[in-house]
Formats: sequence, C-alpha cells, structure tokens
Amino acid sequence: MMSYGDEAPIAALATVPGVSALALIRTSGKNALDLLSRVFSRPQAIREAPGNTLVHGWIINPAIEKGEKEKKEKGEKIDDVLVSVYRAPRSYTGEDGADISCHGGTATVKALLRVLHGAGFRGALPGEFTFRAFINGKLDLTQAEAVMELVSAKTDGARGRAVSRLAGSLEKELGEIKRLLARVLAGVELRLDYAEDELEDEDAEHLPERSKAEEALGRLNVLARSYRRERLYQEGALVVIAGKPNAGKSSLFNRLLNEERAIVAETPGTTRDWIEGWISLEGVPIRLADTAGLRDSRDRIEENGVSRTRELLSRADGVLYLIDGTRGIAPEDAAFLAEPPGPAGVIGVWNKIDAAPLLPRRSLVGISAKTGQGIEELTRALMTQITSFPSILHGQEQEPPGIATERQKACIDAAAAHIAEGLALADTYAPLDLMAPLFREGINALGEITGQVSTAEILEVMFGAFCVGK
Ligand code: GDP
Repeated sequence: MMSYGDEAPIAALATVPGVSALALIRTSGKNALDLLSRVFSRPQAIREAPGNTLVHGWIINPAIEKGEKEKKEKGEKIDDVLVSVYRAPRSYTGEDGADISCHGGTATVKALLRVLHGAGFRGALPGEFTFRAFINGKLDLTQAEAVMELVSAKTDGARGRAVSRLAGSLEKELGEIKRLLARVLAGVELRLDYAEDELEDEDAEHLPERSKAEEALGRLNVLARSYRRERLYQEGALVVIAGKPNAGKSSLFNRLLNEERAIVAETPGTTRDWIEGWISLEGVPIRLADTAGLRDSRDRIEENGVSRTRELLSRADGVLYLIDGTRGIAPEDAAFLAEPPGPAGVIGVWNKIDAAPLLPRRSLVGISAKTGQGIEELTRALMTQITSFPSILHGQEQEPPGIATERQKACIDAAAAHIAEGLALADTYAPLDLMAPLFREGINALGEITGQVSTAEILEVMFGAFCVGK
C-alpha cells in the first residue's frame, strides 16, 4: 500500500493536464536520478550531472525483451526533454530528483509517465512532494499550507498573503510568541526550584514574567482574529445582486464585471436564473451573482429561479438590493429591506440617480449603473460590510501575519485558552505548579502549528488536501 513517509521514487505531472505548449513532470526520491537515467538517451549525463543543472536529451522507452509488438518499441524515442537535476539536500523535497520539462498534450505526458512508472517510479500521492519537503525540514507546516494557498490563490491579494506565509511571516510570529511563553515557563520553573524564602524580591508578581504571558495572549488573540480576514482572501465572498425586475441588476453586474456578461434587456424577467462572475475588490475575490429577482410568478421556470435565488441569498456574504429609482420604493422593496431573507447584511441601492435623484435618505446608496456614478461609494460600502476590517482597505505598509487554515485556528485557540487559564489562576494566587503545565500546553499547541509537535494523523489530513504533483 502506498503511504506518505517513505522515500520511494515518485513521479507526477505538476502542470495542468490538457493541451499546452509545455508540461512539467516532477520526480523525487531514492535512486530517482539513477532510474531516470535508464530511460534517458544520455544516461551518463544524468548520472554525472551536478545538482541544479540542466540536461537535454530524449526520454526513451527502454528495451523490452518480450513480444514482437514490444520489440518494435525497443528504444523508442518518447519526447525531447529538458531535465533539471537536483541533488539532496538542495532540492524542493530535500531528496534527489529531477523536473522534466516536456511537450504538453495528453498523449505525450501519458506516455512519459508510463515509461517512468515502468522504470520504477510510482505515482505521487496528493501533496507528497511538499510532504517530503516538510519531513526533510525544508518547510514548516505553515509554509507547506501556504504552498497550497498559493496554488489556489484567485487574486493578487490572496497570492501576496500566501507568499508572505511561505516566506515564514507566520512562523516568525509564532516563534516570538513561543519565546515569550518559554520565558514565563522558565521563570515559573525557577521559582519552583527555589524555596519561597530564598526569593529576594518581595514585590514580585505572583506569576514571574506575567507581562510576557499577557503580551503572548494579546498576540495570540490578534492572530485568532486574522483568521476571518485570511479566509476571505483565500475563498472570497459571495455577493448577490437582488431586486425587482428592471431595477438594473444586470446593468450593475456588467458594470462591476467590466464586461458584457449578463443580458441587459428592456423586458422584465429576461435574466431567469442567476449569472455569476468573479471580480477582485481590494484584492478580495468576490463572486458576484446577478439574480432573477424575487417575485411571485406562476411561470414554472421563473418559480424555479426564485427558489434558487432564495437559496443563493441564504448563502450570501453580502447582498446589494437594487431599487428602481424611477419607480420609487415598491412594497416588495420595503419588505425585503426590512426583513432580508438571509443572514448576510443588505445594502439598499437606489439605482438610476441619473434619471431620478435620490432624496436624502441615509440608509440607501445612490448609484447609476448606467453612468457609473456612485459605484465607488457602493463598492466601498460593500467591502466595509463584508470584511468588517476597515484596516485592510487602506493598504497597510506591511501585512500583519495571519493564520489561514482551520487547523492553525484550532491550535491558536487552544494555546490562547491555556494561557488565559494560566493568567486567571495567577489572579487567584494559585500554586505555581498548577500553572506551569498550562504554559507548557500553550507552547505545545503553538508547536503543533509549525509541525514541531505533530501527529501522523494531522499530517495525512493536511497533505491529502493537496493536488498531485505538489
Ligand atoms: P434587471 O432586470 O434588474 O437586470 O435590469 P437591467 O439591468 O436589465 O435594466 C433594466 C433597464 O433599466 C434597462 O433598460 C437599463 O438600460 C435601465 N437602467 C439600468 N440602470 C440604469 C441607470 O442607472 N440609469 C438609467 N437611466 N437606466 C438604467
């Protein structure tokens, strides 16, 4: 059975399968270079290549002595490739290995992988290259997770934050918090080692280095709060444009998308279902959905659209509810705004201010989907509502470190809970030997985030979520 954690030679396509000019097949593991040389036109060149060098040649289907058909294939050239040779420990995985740049296309890649498997490579498990990088000390767990984020980043903002974690920003912050806690723990241990009367300082805090514990807790809380923000960058937010027919939903949708994707029509009810597209606001990926609008209808198709709209609204992170300014606020509009059908906040939008100026009314944002007037104000209101982090809107000089996965969040919460309990005990002058284990547990929980303390189970769950070839 295949499993993570061995050194077997592995091979996998690292680029997207399908038609492309070039593709990259990645290999790594024990004897990887020797195995590769056996299916290469210039075996010696691979065997003797120093690390971090390129070798040009052909991947060859090696001699097979069996039937006639295979004999014909003997020595068959499969593809003209460029091999990047890596030697342990100076490689992504920390093992010997090679990246094979080959021609793209399904048939070539399949044939190459078949030859490599024949030579003794096995298919890589999801995330196995990164797993090996972690095992060999090339990355800590937060960095390994950042690799996964990077692969799925939709906007520049999301990419930048993943890169910062990959570069170790989170690891560094956790290291500093751990050092603070280690100081507290060391102080506690020291006091436990010496009898009370040997201690000179009468005014000393009951808990030594208490301020360091408080600082650590404060920084843990900041990290815990960053989770929502980081998720937003990674996963994006669903924003639904709703409103009565003809309110201008499709027009706004198009304007926001900056391209003609939705149908704009004079007759009500043209947009039967919702249409969606991704946009990036302040680096946050926004999945924008243009709905058919909520209305009572006997039309079957439309009813279907309405129920799907309701379902969409129930999952939305934000709703832009459009009112046709030329018609004023209809009873349905008032009802929707008074009792939104989902948990998301609703921004009431008075559209068509070019034709019908908005009477001063605080709760509505006036726009013209036609001329673009008020759109900037609208997106700003939307972002403030969705992020509830005004600070990220006004580009800070340096992004604060943040946590990005549920696993990291759970560890931060556990660490914070231990430290908070320790501090609460200190307030009651509880014996120090009751507090020491709490601080130790706190340090361990943080160690789990970076992988200094980790169980096989966590690792398998984590790396199993990667794509093959990563
Ligand atoms: P939907 O049914 O809510 O998707 O509405 P549409 O986007 O299809 O727009 C309905 C009609 O209103 C179209 O004729 C649009 O050209 C018009 N419309 C949309 N936005 C504006 C606007 O800001 N000003 C004016 N004057 N007309 C608009």
